[in-house]
Amino acid sequence: METSSKIIQERDGKLNVPDVPIIPFIEGDGIGPDVWTATRTVIDAAVEAAHGGIKKIAWLEVYAGEKGHQRTGEWLPEETLETIREHRVAIKGPMTTPVGGGIRSLNVAIRHKLNLYACIRPIKYIDLVPSPMKHPEKVDMVVFRENMEDVYAGIEWERGTPEVERVIRFLQSEMGVSIPEDAGIGIKPISEKNTKQLVAKAIAYAIDNKMPTVTLMHKGNIMKFTEAAFRNWGYEVAEERFGDQTITEAELFDKYQGVQPDGKVVIKDRIADVMFQMVLLRPDEFHVIAAPNLNGDYISDALAAQVGGLGMAPGANIGDDCAVFEATHGSAPKYAGLDKVNPSSLILSGAMMLEHLGWKEASQSVWEAVRQTVRSGFVTYDLARQIEGATEVSCSGFAEQIVKNIRSET
Ligand code: NAD
Repeated sequence: METSSKIIQERDGKLNVPDVPIIPFIEGDGIGPDVWTATRTVIDAAVEAAHGGIKKIAWLEVYAGEKGHQRTGEWLPEETLETIREHRVAIKGPMTTPVGGGIRSLNVAIRHKLNLYACIRPIKYIDLVPSPMKHPEKVDMVVFRENMEDVYAGIEWERGTPEVERVIRFLQSEMGVSIPEDAGIGIKPISEKNTKQLVAKAIAYAIDNKMPTVTLMHKGNIMKFTEAAFRNWGYEVAEERFGDQTITEAELFDKYQGVQPDGKVVIKDRIADVMFQMVLLRPDEFHVIAAPNLNGDYISDALAAQVGGLGMAPGANIGDDCAVFEATHGSAPKYAGLDKVNPSSLILSGAMMLEHLGWKEASQSVWEAVRQTVRSGFVTYDLARQIEGATEVSCSGFAEQIVKNIRSET
């Protein structure tokens, strides 16, 4: 580790990033080592090109998943979580979900234990990437998905167990609700506090990045006290915390004759099923989307498919105390160690991480170099088989090409 390396601090809710911040990484399982090596090479090159050696990342490996289990007997060692908490920013490759390990998903466990309540997925089209859309270039959105609750809270009881029988009896006798004896039951909590912290983050992002709208995506026509409550609390927090920087869609037409005033973000809401049509038919009407956990999960993968699939889509899980940037695909065990897969998802997550550090120039150079590399037709197998005349390169070869483009940008 560099002697000048330091831990990122926080002051008044803002990161205070030293020139050589220590950033923990989890390499990941399966294809994790391949995509991580490619990512680290690209991120280091972008920082070097933008900051001429003054700024640099001091990487610190922490263990989770298979490597964690081999070294410590734990899939998600407490020490790893503590190190990430202390360092505030981390990045991780994909991890295989342990079968019979008593953990539903390592990713969900990390989000819960570190209170990473917002899952952020930018969905931007990169030229030439094969897409099922006629105009994929119109897709430019950022999804803020609530991470902590909804049906993902893990509160459920299996059909036929004594627990589910108790719940069914309680619902019948105390609440007058009848449920079939052979049902499994899951609980869907959606709270004011979690909704407001998520929507506030989405609105602050729209304001900071001059994005015109924030759409609250919900199924409130059916689920009044969870999904409709999400919408209502979303409008409330817009008013309470960003009253002079936002207007509602109703106000846009009632007070401003449909002409968006400068410096105001429009807050609107749409029913989830309609959203899936609208993002296909009129994608340019959506910018930031804030959604409860399940809607957010569906819409982010659907949007990723609209611009070329999960192999390209970056993501981050962010809370008030720390942020973990991650590949959005899984560990694809059959391609492990073949130096074959597309590392773009983790590379672009690394670009999001640079932006989070405030190193915007380095971040933009990664995006631009990935665009250029794909445009020049040097792509991994998944894209090469869909782009006529493309040259298939390995995972590391793709990263080398991106580095070349970063260096030629400066
Ligand atoms: P997967 O995403 O690992 O792979 C499915 C298929 O998608 C692969 O066989 C491959 O054809 C393609 N693919 C995935 N990533 C690619 C890339 N970077 N480049 C090119 N092609 C790529 O999904 P899976 O097979 O359902 O899951 C494997 C393991 O990963 C499971 O244990 C699962 O629980 C876990 N998982 C982890 C994460 C995560 O860490 N964020 C996400 C999803 C799944």
